[in-house]
This record gives sequence, structure tokens and C-alpha cells, in this order.
Amino acid sequence: MNVLVVNCGSSSLKYQLIDSDTETVLAKGLCERIGIDGGEFTYQKSGLDKEKTNVDMPTHKEAIQIVLNALVNDKTGAIGSLDEIGAVGHRMVHGGEKFASSALITDEMLATVEECNDLAPLHNPANLIGVYACRDLMPGVPMVGVFDTAFHQTMPEKAYLYGLPYEYYEKYGVRRYGFHGTSHRFVSQHMAEFLGLDLNNSKLIVAHLGNGASISAVLNGKSIDTSMGLTPLEGLVMGTRSGDIDPAIIEFISKKEGLDIDGMMDVLNKKSGVLGISKTSSDFRDLEEGMNNGDKLCEAAIEVFSYRVAKYIGSYCAALNGVDAIAFTAGIGENAPLVRKKVCEHLGFLGITLDEEANGHRGEDLIISTPDSKVKVCIIPTDEELAIARDTVALV
Ligand code: ADP
Repeated sequence: MNVLVVNCGSSSLKYQLIDSDTETVLAKGLCERIGIDGGEFTYQKSGLDKEKTNVDMPTHKEAIQIVLNALVNDKTGAIGSLDEIGAVGHRMVHGGEKFASSALITDEMLATVEECNDLAPLHNPANLIGVYACRDLMPGVPMVGVFDTAFHQTMPEKAYLYGLPYEYYEKYGVRRYGFHGTSHRFVSQHMAEFLGLDLNNSKLIVAHLGNGASISAVLNGKSIDTSMGLTPLEGLVMGTRSGDIDPAIIEFISKKEGLDIDGMMDVLNKKSGVLGISKTSSDFRDLEEGMNNGDKLCEAAIEVFSYRVAKYIGSYCAALNGVDAIAFTAGIGENAPLVRKKVCEHLGFLGITLDEEANGHRGEDLIISTPDSKVKVCIIPTDEELAIARDTVALV
């Protein structure tokens, strides 16, 4: 079956058409600047060059229509007609406590998702707009919602409760939810398979290090802790997000800089992280270049990032009471040997030794620890779209 995987942001839409029988990508691309002047549409049929066109997309509906037109285009289309799309899988950000797994999209299900909008006011409404647009344009095609939060619903209370008045949890659902769940699930399952471990009897740590970054502790295939919280702002130092900070800093800086709460949240989400520290870039390629040219702030940003990752891994060894294997994934985890090396340098106490030659590789399933390392360390490229396609097929 061909599954269209859709990931809607407030002004963007990423898509992939996946043949679920062969698990191959037939076409993929991106709509940018939806609802803003100067829209850009990118389409790439597997095996062909990327095509980029400028086209205004006033709403997500026009964006999806453009995607569908491209998919059935005479010359570069990936399929003959829209009938060849058997199902649509939607990435959904926040399922609150309502969704512990992916779910078939029905009116009732959408109403439940809407109840979670409060928890992700930027993301969930955008996801829903994408669902309604697909429903309009592909009536009758079954659709599935796959939640970023679902995999972490197995976290125990001691991991998800904050040290805050309990009534905020009761009244508003203020607790830790965690994100990137689709990736943590995919990578933990795949790493067990790749390493020949029994998933149901394993202690795994997954470091999803991309622009947004999070770590999870996975016991016997279930998430028992993860570094993101009520929102994706908690945890690691990220590209532009602060991660964990002393909450009193918010009052301190807001008074010094005359910022209101929106201004402070903007700083914490968009101007902090390695971008904030380095004053240069959120991209590790730029940071490494800066460091190699003697820029001390770029070096500090890489050190702070790697140290925080190592500290979380250390704390998750305690959460799991041991660890069998650690996986690095996502943009930085898959492609930045320097970061993996720096993280592992802090983990010698676990008996981890890194195979420097293997660590030089990138973007492939690979063990990067030496054969005598007490804990296996590996690179496992994530594939959230494939995970969404698999869930979609399983549910329709
Ligand atoms: P997201 O999905 O959260 O936007 P990705 O997982 O795509 O993020 O990761 C993007 C990040 O990966 C970039 O910002 C960059 O820091 C890092 N990255 C990508 N390629 C490389 C590379 N070759 N070397 C070092 N870092 C890289």
C-alpha cells in the first residue's frame, strides 16, 4: 500500500509517499511559507533531482493540493492516480494523556486531539488543519494520527510529576510528557534488532540529537524517562532552546532586560541553546568550523551541549539501573563524530571505549564502541516517516 505521510507545521508541510510493501520512498518534499507571501514548493521523485518552485499557498489546503498534483504529474509524478494512495499518516505533536499509541482518525478522535490543543498551542492546531485539508481533498481515504508523546506514556508517575503543587497536574495536566516519541520508539526497536538484543529484556538509551534534542531511557522496550517535559523546551541544550535552566533566571532576566513573558519565552525557545552561547549559529557544522578557527564561544557551545548529553545519559543509567546499549540518532547524533566522542569521553566510568575509526563514519547503522567495551554504543539513523507509515498500515 502507498502511504502519504504528512507533517504539518504552522507555516510548513513536509510529506513523503512511501510504498509500505517495499518500505521505499517514492517521492518526498516540503511546502514552506504557507499563508505567507513567497511560498516555496519542493518535490523530489525518488531517483530524480529535487524540483523547487515558487508558488503561493494561502492555506494548508492549497499546499496539499499542490502536493497531490505533483504526485500524479504526467512527467515526474510517482503514481498514476490518487486512487493509488491507500492511506494518510499524520504526525501529531501532543496527545496528552489521551493517546498512548497511534490512532485511526475519526470525528471522535479529532475532538479528543482538540482537547490537547492547550498543551501545544502552536503545533496541534497546525496538525489538525493538515488533517482537515486531507479529508477535504481525499474523502474516504483512511487516515491515522501518530503522536510524538505516545511512546512516553509508559513513564511512571515518579518520572512525569514535577515538584509543583499537585493541583496544577489535576487542573491543567501540568506534567512531563516527552516528545520525539516516534523516533525513540523506532530507534530503540531497531537498535535491539541490529545489536541482537532481546528488546523485552533490555536497558537502552536513545540520544536523539537534532535541532531539537532529547534523550530517553527505554526499559524492556518501554520509555521510562525522557528529557523533554510539558513542552519540548526542557532537557538538553538544543540548537536554539535553552533546555533545563534555573527557573528563577526567567524573573531575573525579564527585570534586567525589561522583557514580558512572551519576550522571555522567545529568548528561551529561539535565541538560546548553542546559538545563544556561540553567538554564531545553531548548526553544528558552523560551530565545528568556528571552533577549528579558534572561536572560543563555538567551542564552549559544543562542550556545553556534549556535557549535558553525557549527564543525562549518566542519570538514565541510574533510572534503568544499568545500560546495555546507547544509540545516537538524528542530524547531530548521526553526523557529528566530534559530539559523539566528547559525550563518550565522559562515560569511561561505564566501561565504554570508543572505536575512533568507526566513529568517523556517519549516517548508517554502525557499532562505534570497541568489541571489549562494556556497553555497546551505536549510530542508528532515525526514520520517523517510515515509523508513521508502518503504524498507518497496521491501523487501516
Ligand atoms: P530537526 O529535525 O530537529 O530540525 P535534524 O535532526 O534534521 O533536526 O538535525 C539538524 C541538525 O543536525 C543541524 O542543525 C546540524 O546541527 C546537525 N547536522 C546535520 N548535518 C551535520 C553534519 N554533517 N555535521 C554536524 N552536524 C550536522
